[in-house]
Amino acid sequence: MKWKNQLTGMKPYQPGHSVDEVKKMFGLNEIVKLASNENPFGSSPKVNEFLDKLSTNHAIYPDGYASGLRHALAESLDVKESQLMFGNGSDEIIMIISRALLQPGVNTVMATPTFSQYRHNAIVDGAEVREVKLNKNGSHDLQEMLRQIDENTAVVWLCSPNNPTGTLIEQAELEEFVQKVPKEVLIVLDEAYFEYINEPTYKNSTELVKNHENFLVMRTFSKAYGLAGFRVGYAIAQEELIFRLDPVRAPFNNTVLSQAVALIALQDTSFLDECKVSNEIGKKQFEAFASAHNLHIYPSHGNFVLFEVKADSDFVFEELMKRGYIIRSGNALGAPRYIRVTIGTQQQNEDFLVNLLDVLVENGVFA
Ligand SMILES: *Cc1c(COP(=O)(O)O)cnc(C)c1O
Repeated sequence: MKWKNQLTGMKPYQPGHSVDEVKKMFGLNEIVKLASNENPFGSSPKVNEFLDKLSTNHAIYPDGYASGLRHALAESLDVKESQLMFGNGSDEIIMIISRALLQPGVNTVMATPTFSQYRHNAIVDGAEVREVKLNKNGSHDLQEMLRQIDENTAVVWLCSPNNPTGTLIEQAELEEFVQKVPKEVLIVLDEAYFEYINEPTYKNSTELVKNHENFLVMRTFSKAYGLAGFRVGYAIAQEELIFRLDPVRAPFNNTVLSQAVALIALQDTSFLDECKVSNEIGKKQFEAFASAHNLHIYPSHGNFVLFEVKADSDFVFEELMKRGYIIRSGNALGAPRYIRVTIGTQQQNEDFLVNLLDVLVENGVFA
């Protein structure tokens, strides 16, 4: 068959071990998954109530415009309904953007390490990938990213808070960057962890959308809203930009059920507030651990932390899995000798850190 050349040698996404697999592999009853930045509290109890007494009609197509969710979200963001596009997770928004703008002969600029899907989609679409190393403190090197932009650049990707470091792009730097990027280049700001940001100087980036026709913000219901399984992400941009991208989207890309639960979750702001408070407490648990044991930790603004373990991260990953914890090894994330851990409940974090300390002591890290 006539496959695109760029697919040669590409491997499918490797999902981590599932909770059930790890249970079987190691004969464990209880597994704590702190690998994918899902909300340890699940989703709003109101979503669960709704699901318990569910009676949707499964034979009809979903509303391809997601009208109910769109109306509520536009109102809460204070943008026009026509400034939104929904995706089957923000993963699909990344694919739509790539499909619309990336092709052989153009390039795309991004940080490294950052969220893997920007690069992945760029390769599938045959574009040249220009990766710019993060600064030592984990921040985006926006000056170098600017230098990498040329007349063939179609998209530049920013991730704030950045996955896997959790680092935030500083507001003034972000504004200056957006100002300087040529209008012909689409700037994508991935804010998958927006709801967790606790930084008074960071403004709502929908303000930047108002003044920049080439600026798009991505957010998701997968992380703080606790709805990763329902696959709802969205883009916010000026109307004309959304209008150009929307034809690339499959017409019924969100299900009836996912639209309904995202709408309920959106309205339960107190659940979100509680999760944010708990996340701050959890973050301090990890920061205290790192500081007590002299391990470098990136300043996180998300619901996960990337920190040093002074040992092979695949090994630490394996040892933790035997003890019932699924985390992410830094090796796979471009951060060797670090691990990325989702901030769990206070109890989960406490127990996790006891187990991590055991693993590190056993292996002579603190000897
Ligand atoms: C988790 C994550 C996503 C994907 O979110 P979905 O909406 O579930 O597809 C996108 N970007 C970043 C940075 C993420 O961490």
